[in-house]
Amino acid sequence: MSTHTEHTEHGDVRSIMTGEKPKKDYGDERKLNFWERIYLVEIVKGLVNTFKMMFRPSTTIDYVGEKSTERQRHVPAVGYRGEHYLKVDDKGNIKCVACFMCSTACPAECITIVGDATDVDQFGAQRFKAPEVFEIDMLKCIYCGMCVEACPKDAIAMSTTYNQVGVKRGDFIYDKARLLKNNDEFMESLGLARSGKDKDGRYPLSPAGMGPDVTHGLQPFRQGTRSEGA
Ligand code: SF4
Ligand code: SF4
Repeated sequence: MSTHTEHTEHGDVRSIMTGEKPKKDYGDERKLNFWERIYLVEIVKGLVNTFKMMFRPSTTIDYVGEKSTERQRHVPAVGYRGEHYLKVDDKGNIKCVACFMCSTACPAECITIVGDATDVDQFGAQRFKAPEVFEIDMLKCIYCGMCVEACPKDAIAMSTTYNQVGVKRGDFIYDKARLLKNNDEFMESLGLARSGKDKDGRYPLSPAGMGPDVTHGLQPFRQGTRSEGA
């Protein structure tokens, strides 16, 4: 039986399999000469390379800087999943009905919702609940878009905003106000009304152009009434 330790390009197989400390085997290794051992020549070579690179055109982009050109700016592709926003309907009411579908679907468990009963006069007869608290921990979010897919009311979506900046963890807990602000800013950047409506009365960012008050065929029920506190 051979006692020779088997070495592969991945290292000492026995040590990998057993967890033992690998045996040192420097048999084939070339000894460094004096100049190689003090690394001086290599340091000079590195510095020469650095100076050469300093005078070459930059290959990085100044994507939001004042001096950036159109060519340098990063323009996210269609379908890019950036920061979330919460949509509002034509009356300016938040569309979310606090059903928890998004937070249930979220694999990162970064959505926190606390529902509250809605005011009948403000929200109408078919809107029983709205979120009192709606928070997303953007540091936990993996931008998978599952929350958007799960939402039955087309109430949450993702903008193309990618340049998030903050100085403390709390800056990345996006609350309801922040998510609604994201909506307003994103809609404004696209030339749409706050509800996402374009000048022709359509909703280009909603699934199949559906309006902000998505009822999925429940229109007759929307005529119903309910008493205060129902
Ligand atoms: S994008 Fe994914 S990880 Fe982020 S909040 Fe939505 S479901 Fe959760
Ligand atoms: S955003 Fe959509 S899925 Fe999430 S709680 Fe609101 S209505 Fe439900």
